[in-house]
Parts: sequence; C-alpha cells; structure tokens
Amino acid sequence: ARQFVRPLNDLSTQVNTMLSAVAGAERVFEISRDREEEDEEGAVDLEEVHGDIEFSQVNFSYGQSAKTLSEVSFRVWPGQTIALVGPTGAGKTTVVQLLSRFYETNGGSIRVDGHDIRRIRRSSLRRHMGFVLQDSILFETTVRENIRYGRLDATDGEVEEAARLANAHLFITRLPNGYDTVLLKGGGAISHGQRQLLAIARAILADPSILILDEATSSVDTVTEMNIQEALQRLMKGRTNVVIAHRLNTIRQADVIAVLDNGRIVEHGTHDALLENQGVYYELYKGK
Ligand code: ADP
Repeated sequence: ARQFVRPLNDLSTQVNTMLSAVAGAERVFEISRDREEEDEEGAVDLEEVHGDIEFSQVNFSYGQSAKTLSEVSFRVWPGQTIALVGPTGAGKTTVVQLLSRFYETNGGSIRVDGHDIRRIRRSSLRRHMGFVLQDSILFETTVRENIRYGRLDATDGEVEEAARLANAHLFITRLPNGYDTVLLKGGGAISHGQRQLLAIARAILADPSILILDEATSSVDTVTEMNIQEALQRLMKGRTNVVIAHRLNTIRQADVIAVLDNGRIVEHGTHDALLENQGVYYELYKGK
C-alpha cells in the first residue's frame, strides 16, 4: 500500500516508516535496515507493559547541532497522562522521538517499566505504543485496511468496533463504498478531522499501553471536533499518555504538565500548582 499524506514532520515520517514495515512493505524495510535499527544483543521482549515511564537526565543532540534536550527528567506512572507544553522548537517532539527510540539519547536513560529502553527489542517496545499524530498517516487502500494497520490480525468485526468507539463509523458508512472505500491521493474524500478519527480507530484497535498523542492545531468543524475529543477521551482511558499538548482542556486534565523551553524542563506539576507558581506556565496560560 502506498502512503499518501501531506508534508510530514520527522515524527510522522518515522511512525509511517514503522507502520509500513509492520505491514511488510519491503521498500521501507530497506530504509530501516539502512538506519541500522538492530537490537542490542540480549535485548528483551516485553510480553506486557504497564506504562511506567522514567526519563533520567536525558541529553540529546541531532547530529552535530547544539543540544536539543538537556538533563530532561520526569516520571509518569501507569495510566497517567503527561502533557508536554512549551513553544515551538522547545523539544517536545524530540522527547517522544527518544521514547519511541527513533533516536538514541546521548546521555542519561529512559526506562519503561524499569527496563532501560536500549535493552528492550524495538519491535517489542513499539508494539506497546500507539500514535495519534497531527499528520494522520493514511495509506492508499481501503478505509478498512487503513484501520487494520493498528493490528493486522484484527477481524472485520473488530475493525468496525474500533471505528464505532472512535466515532468514525457513521461517516465511514456514508462514504461511497463504506469500509471498502479506497482512499485516494488528492481525492478529498475525507476531511482532516475524519483522518484524525481514522487514526484514533487504528490506535483503539492496537490497544497500546502507551499512547503518544500529538494534538492537532488545525481547526475542524464543531461536530467533528466534539467527536474527536470524545473519541480521544475513550482512547486515552487506562493508558499512559504522552501528549504534545496544545489544548487547554487536555493540559488541565493531565496528571503532570512538563513545561519545556529550549530543551529543558523549566517547570512541572499539575495545572493548579503551576498556576500558583506564577512562572512560565502561568505566562503561557494567560497568553491563551
Ligand atoms: P517542538 O516539538 O517542541 O516544537 P522539536 O523537538 O521538534 O520541538 O525540536 C527541538 C529542536 O530540535 C528544534 O530546534 C528543531 O529545529 C530541532 N530539530 C528537530 N528535529 C530535528 C532533526 N531531525 N534534525 C535536526 N534538528 C532537529
């Protein structure tokens, strides 16, 4: 299945590559081989992941460039939501890239359920992670198969159930061929918001312990927006969520808010605690 998307950011490209590799697209397999994504000897396979995430003094630079992350530390417990906030270029996406091991840290460690992620097989780590990104990744195939990318052995019934939970079923049934509608490049058959709903359906099907969410900034119509927010609530429930957050609602409800600036966590805490601090977060919040 060929991919088709609007211009992708780095994270979307990585996830896209990964999804294609899962589906056995050989061209992409070549890419990941080129990137030398081999596992360390003795790396473990995790049957089950609870979603305890710990960054300890993580440092990172892209190539020779200046430090992108400096001494980033935080802990998120299973079932909690962390909201990463801060200005563009602060390093929010990079945190997620490192957690998914699309890049390696230059110092410090990242642990999932107590295991240093360098000691976990990549396929195992990513099997427990789901992604809902701004640039929803769709492939030039049917709606049904697009959702099934979440879990390749899912039955048609399970695909449809996921679509219902994602509030996507209704619009899908209104497409010319329902679930068999082929999504075509530039066809304009579905809206940006509907792409998001498909991405949510895919993630629901995957049922990951860790969900990585890059909230959309582009606006959609009110009804679709409500559908998206409701579906996201459902998706996030019972998982550890790492959210690159732009929406105040998500941020307010997060268990931890980490405010990044210039590659450092300059503040962290709950919404109320941070407001009380009257620091960077307070200023950001006032500016909304
Ligand atoms: P945010 O998500 O908070 O907007 P990013 O993590 O995307 O921030 O970026 C942090 C910094 O790293 C920025 O200065 C950005 O230009 C740089 N950066 C991001 N991706 C790359 C890359 N692939 N190569 C080099 N620099 C990058």
